[in-house]
Amino acid sequence: TEASERLQVVFVGHVDHGKSTLLGRLYADTGSLPDGHLEKVRQICIRQGKPFEYAFLFDAFLEEQEQGITIDTARTFFRWHNRQYLILDAPGHKEFLKNMVSGAARAEAAVLIIDALEGVQEQSRRHGYLLSLLGIRQLTVVVNKMDLVQYRQAAFEEIARSYQRFLRELHLEPAHIIPASAREGDNVACASSAMPWYHGPTLLESLAAFGKLPVRSDQPLRFPVQDVYKFDARRIIAGRVETGELRVGDTVVFSPSNKSSVVRSIEAFNAEPPQTAGAGRCTGFTLNEQIFIERGEIVSRQETPPEVCTRFRANVFWMGSNPLRRGSTYRLRLTTAEVEMELEEILSVTDAVSLARITRSEHLEKNDVAQVVIKTRKPLALDRFADIDVTGRFVIVDGCDIWGGGIVMEPLKDAQEPF
Ligand code: GDP
Repeated sequence: TEASERLQVVFVGHVDHGKSTLLGRLYADTGSLPDGHLEKVRQICIRQGKPFEYAFLFDAFLEEQEQGITIDTARTFFRWHNRQYLILDAPGHKEFLKNMVSGAARAEAAVLIIDALEGVQEQSRRHGYLLSLLGIRQLTVVVNKMDLVQYRQAAFEEIARSYQRFLRELHLEPAHIIPASAREGDNVACASSAMPWYHGPTLLESLAAFGKLPVRSDQPLRFPVQDVYKFDARRIIAGRVETGELRVGDTVVFSPSNKSSVVRSIEAFNAEPPQTAGAGRCTGFTLNEQIFIERGEIVSRQETPPEVCTRFRANVFWMGSNPLRRGSTYRLRLTTAEVEMELEEILSVTDAVSLARITRSEHLEKNDVAQVVIKTRKPLALDRFADIDVTGRFVIVDGCDIWGGGIVMEPLKDAQEPF
């Protein structure tokens, strides 16, 4: 039967702290693996003479799923109690940021894993910072590998306390901090008898308690244009309804070009053309008039357009090995738009690990988080992240790789002198 609801959860943690093992455990213990999968992986382990690992189980599962999926491979899901949990697996920092900021994924909740033996690492802190930057409010922290510290309460408490202190400074309060062993299965899907001192929920129970974020249909229409196809005399504008609803007969505006027209039809393959397309739908539509539209524009309703500007204040996170320099040119991607950008001003810089203020005015170094003013060569359509997250976040491309990302805090007046 179809799960009635779906929750998107991102899993993050320092490498080797046990993310794959935890995911393997979750999939196995909720019966979400295909028939025979567990046995198959066990056999492979025997044949290769290595001990069975839940991490292999998950990796093999991922590989299998990926063969059938061409888009967005880092997603898998499991079902539990009538809910589908879509897992966004972020292998590293860059992927994490890319997934989160490019809008490929909208995590509604996060699970952050810390190794009980190794304790809080720099990357655990950076991940926490990123989660807070991206506005994720539903967080569960798992202190994993409790078996390696003999399930001692004191070891758990120390990590829990120190990480919670860090998160508080970010105004992020975890729903639960759970002592667990992914390998042994303690407090993942089943309550542990090895830690009688713990009275909180298991990881699954903690996830079940998270709510869905408000439905995006309630928000103003945002439809970033991915492509324009020409069919006969018609032009079909293709993309995804990120928020709101697209309706036949509505007057829509394209930003930043500010052209407008009326939606004539919404396209459908082998089906009756629908009158509306809701948030989350990938679709194409046609207009009453032929106007020239390009990839990168944002479609909205006339009454609720996005902001259009060439300057805005933003919070950015930089991960490049090369610094992000004031005055150098980079490319900025926001939904399907791509424009050239420059750092106009660095307002303040924070170290994402220590949360200390740093004095820097000319460049950002790896792992800096900063409040900056960005200017773009061409006008850009955007929203404040606090209003509409999809059109309020962006990534910064240096060369051909994503090295930074950020969220829009406030659009600003155009500069006196053009960029
Ligand atoms: P990832 O890099 O975070 O995905 O980590 P893995 O899931 O690959 O785990 C890294 C190593 O830690 C593997 O050798 C696992 O067997 C081990 N590991 C993971 N969880 C536990 C646990 O709960 N207890 C113990 N003792 N080892 C674990």
